[in-house]
Amino acid sequence: MRTILLVFLTLVSTLSSSASAKEALTLVSDFTNAPMGPFVSFVSFPPDVETPLNYRHISQLPWQENSKESFNKGYSDDTWWLKFDVSTDDTSTLVYLLEISYPVLDYLDVFLIDHHQQSIASKAKFGDKRPFYARKINTSNFLVPFELAPQKSYSILLKVRSSSSIQVPLTLWRPILYHQHNQTLSLFNGGIWGALLIMVFYNLVMYFRTKHKSYFYYVLYVLSMVLFLFSLKGYSFQYLWPQNILWNDRLIVIFLSSTVFFATIFTQQFLQLKQRVPSFNKLIVSIYAGAIISIIISPLVPFRISAIFTTSVAVFGCIVGLFVGCFLWRKNIAAAKYYTISWCAMLCGGIVLALNKWQFIPVNFITENFVLFGSVFEALLLSFALSEKYNEEKQLRLVSQRTFAAAQQEINTQLNTKVEERTSQLQSALEQLKLISETDPLTQLNNRRSIDNHIQQLFSEGIEHNTSLSIVMLDIDFFKNFNDSYGHQTGDECLIHVADLLEQFSVKHGHICGRLGGEEFVVIFADIELKTGKALAQEVIELIEHSSFISSDKVLPITISAGLSLMYPKSVTQIPLLFSQADQALYLAKNNGRNRVEVFNDSPVMPDIIPT
Ligand code: GH3
Ligand code: MG
Ligand code: MG
Repeated sequence: MRTILLVFLTLVSTLSSSASAKEALTLVSDFTNAPMGPFVSFVSFPPDVETPLNYRHISQLPWQENSKESFNKGYSDDTWWLKFDVSTDDTSTLVYLLEISYPVLDYLDVFLIDHHQQSIASKAKFGDKRPFYARKINTSNFLVPFELAPQKSYSILLKVRSSSSIQVPLTLWRPILYHQHNQTLSLFNGGIWGALLIMVFYNLVMYFRTKHKSYFYYVLYVLSMVLFLFSLKGYSFQYLWPQNILWNDRLIVIFLSSTVFFATIFTQQFLQLKQRVPSFNKLIVSIYAGAIISIIISPLVPFRISAIFTTSVAVFGCIVGLFVGCFLWRKNIAAAKYYTISWCAMLCGGIVLALNKWQFIPVNFITENFVLFGSVFEALLLSFALSEKYNEEKQLRLVSQRTFAAAQQEINTQLNTKVEERTSQLQSALEQLKLISETDPLTQLNNRRSIDNHIQQLFSEGIEHNTSLSIVMLDIDFFKNFNDSYGHQTGDECLIHVADLLEQFSVKHGHICGRLGGEEFVVIFADIELKTGKALAQEVIELIEHSSFISSDKVLPITISAGLSLMYPKSVTQIPLLFSQADQALYLAKNNGRNRVEVFNDSPVMPDIIPT
């Protein structure tokens, strides 16, 4: 402390007479604010030189003029002294505010030297390596109040040491103007941080609603970016961890690393890089690795090394992001368009900030805060792009669902048609089979099985309605002889001839007829009287007798014998009896001379003619 005082006493006498110092800035009554960069002179000393200024050599010290709007010396371990002179032409003592708007400087001591009294009028200590509460005024940037008495001249001295880059942007304010400016800044900041946080919450809600991972990575990315910018602007130190001098600057690096990390995951997910351009994966992995390494090493290595490393990873990540975005945009991927534009906005912010810091462009409110504009614009655009992408995917999903449903409907229809076709084919095959199984192959009449079925059914109807059922059994006379005389083939033709006649007769009268086997046939009459039945049977045998069966141009005579049986059925068990009675009547007809009809009831059943 004594040394510093000595230094200042030395300075005081020197500064007032120093030829190399710039001319004093006279603060006229209508002064509002001005950057002090052009009025600054500076000198630096290596870190091992503890008290560089002494009384004798002070005037010979190589004060250099800054002459630029801001003071920026990049990374340096040196201790930097800056000074500028002010005087006021006012008639009363006025308060002025000196703002140093680079809140990450480690150590900053500010002294007001009164030239007349050759003493320190006031002093203040700042820096993010000192607790925030040590500050006189609670602002994120360093703010020093000075009382300048009228008609006096002063020097303002600043001593700076920092592991961050040595940037000392100085602005001298009239308090009223500063408050006005601060109010605008507060409104602007409220808008910026508010917009970013709204984006965070909105997309968090979207994540919980849609479970799309992109939303989640976006939220982490924007949150990291908010924390990074919030810390870089000194707000975290002011509001979140005002006493954490150990971690304050490290956290800035860690937040930048996590911003890079989540931006990379987001990019990978959002642009579907794994599927679309797997060859870029190595680049992406290298950015991940860089971000993780910088998080791990940041508490272990000097701040400057981790800051340079992280910034390099971030710059590399930006270049890769931009390259990947442009590459996919050229391939007409809609998501890549929004991504690239928003990335450009962010980069513009970064570039403007860099140009501002290196004084290629004027330092003003817009250039100072352009990175914040860029961030908000980027966050907004990406959020919009996310919802667009989600909508697009939803639309695609809907379309594919509809296509799938239509295809399924089509398949079902085809399947149903096929099933119907097959069923009808099967049905007709079954009917065919049934017909075959119930038809006599030679004569195409009902066969024995079919006759049995008909009898069963007619029997049941007869039982139900108490109506009669008659059968006429018919047997061609002397058919063995016929075969022997004209051959088996002619015999078959004769059977077909008789069958045709029976069929015509049955169709005509609405009866059922069939072939029982060999040269035996049957005709069934339902609900007729015995007399009618006998007449019908007589009609049949006459029909056959008078028919002309022509074979080899010769008319061959055929006769047939018939046995009629009639019953009022009571039970289906009587069916064999009905057949047996008809058979007995047939035998009787054979015995009585053939080509005739006999009725079972007409004559007693002869035990010796019951068929075996
Ligand atoms: P009856 O007047 O007493 O009935 O004398 P029948 O010769 O007609 O009777 P029988 O039972 O002795 O002879 C029946 C003959 O019918 C014997 C057999 O060769 C012939 N037959 C049976 N089925 C067929 C057939 O499908 N085609 C031919 N061509 N002949 C058959
Ligand atoms: Mg026979
Ligand atoms: Mg016969």
